[in-house]
Amino acid sequence: MKILKRIQEIKNIGNNRQLYNEQWVETKKALERYAIEDGLKVSEDIIGNLFCRLEGYNRSKTISIISHFDSVENGGAYDGIVGILAGIEALGMLKKKFGTPEVSLEVICIAEEEGARFKTTFLGCRALFGDLKYENLKRLKDKQNISFFKAREVIGLKPFSQKELDRCQRNDIITAIELHVEQSRYLEKTQIPIGICTHIPGQMKIRMVIVGEANHAGTTPMFERKDALCCAAKIISFVEHLGIKYEGVTTTGYTINAKNATNIIPSKVELIHDMRHHDPEVFNQMLEDLTNYAKREEEKRGVHIEFEKLVKIEPVELSTEINEQIKKVTRQIGLRQMEFKSGAGHDVQIMSSHDIPSGLIFIPSVEGISHRMEEYTKNEDIVNGLNVLALTIKNLSYGLIL
Ligand SMILES: [Zn+2]
Repeated sequence: MKILKRIQEIKNIGNNRQLYNEQWVETKKALERYAIEDGLKVSEDIIGNLFCRLEGYNRSKTISIISHFDSVENGGAYDGIVGILAGIEALGMLKKKFGTPEVSLEVICIAEEEGARFKTTFLGCRALFGDLKYENLKRLKDKQNISFFKAREVIGLKPFSQKELDRCQRNDIITAIELHVEQSRYLEKTQIPIGICTHIPGQMKIRMVIVGEANHAGTTPMFERKDALCCAAKIISFVEHLGIKYEGVTTTGYTINAKNATNIIPSKVELIHDMRHHDPEVFNQMLEDLTNYAKREEEKRGVHIEFEKLVKIEPVELSTEINEQIKKVTRQIGLRQMEFKSGAGHDVQIMSSHDIPSGLIFIPSVEGISHRMEEYTKNEDIVNGLNVLALTIKNLSYGLIL
């Protein structure tokens, strides 16, 4: 199968495929080449999402296989990439064997899902539903202070208007399926090759800027201080407490302490909190609790806290009909399977939150390692995933089930 060789080729480009950087550009070129080799028609939108299509008799309806080709900083070679390469090869195989499908099929190679460079997730998929605003994109900056539009300019991409951004919107997608490495250990521990995802947690990224007052660390009495970092420490602990209390997961992984000097009271701290939960009510309760706590700390300490919702994607339950199709195919191929909830966010979540019936197939990750160079999925598991994906798509698009 071509997928195994292609994974190695993408690995050789590098595992730092962040939006609009050099490796991202090289990876996109390679994916385009593979799609053309496999007989698919390639186009892209203004954000950089790549569409590899096999047109059907009915072109007004599309079944999309979706996954992302960006990575986190020094990430792995499998996260996102496996789903895209499996999709391209599956469509190539279906075209060769069965010809024109009833409805159009496509692989959407999503430009950005991880949020690694500009700290806001799902940019690629959100563009397909008009969820991106030009004004918000204009404000995005990476760690080197390079703006979103400057980063585009560096690789020769043009600026665009809100009107052009709105043209990315799609209304022809009737089903979305994603194949992804599991990134935890349920499958590996049970020696089951195929996982079927039932739920994806809601995910929010909350940016806080705490503004206090810089002063002399030796001469300012404790009760006259407006220490932004001490306030941040309380808030970070509270975020951890929310994860434990509500049985969700909460992280404050991004922090910047201005001055960062041993003898100056910290005056400005920036934090980004990541909070996730499967239950929509609890998900929103966590946000309310954090807001209230931050307000109390703000008053108590005399600091000012700016609060910005960078991303808020609601929890979703995936389509039971699509999951049934995946189960049927897995049984047909003679593979064992299990259903479980995802811990991580996935592109298909955005599809599902826009009422597109969606499914997510997992294949095992060795030791559950992900978002690291050591990430690995065995060849046999990749081939199994590709077979399940291809046959599921075949049943949906050539058998007039939809
Ligand atoms: Zn991923």
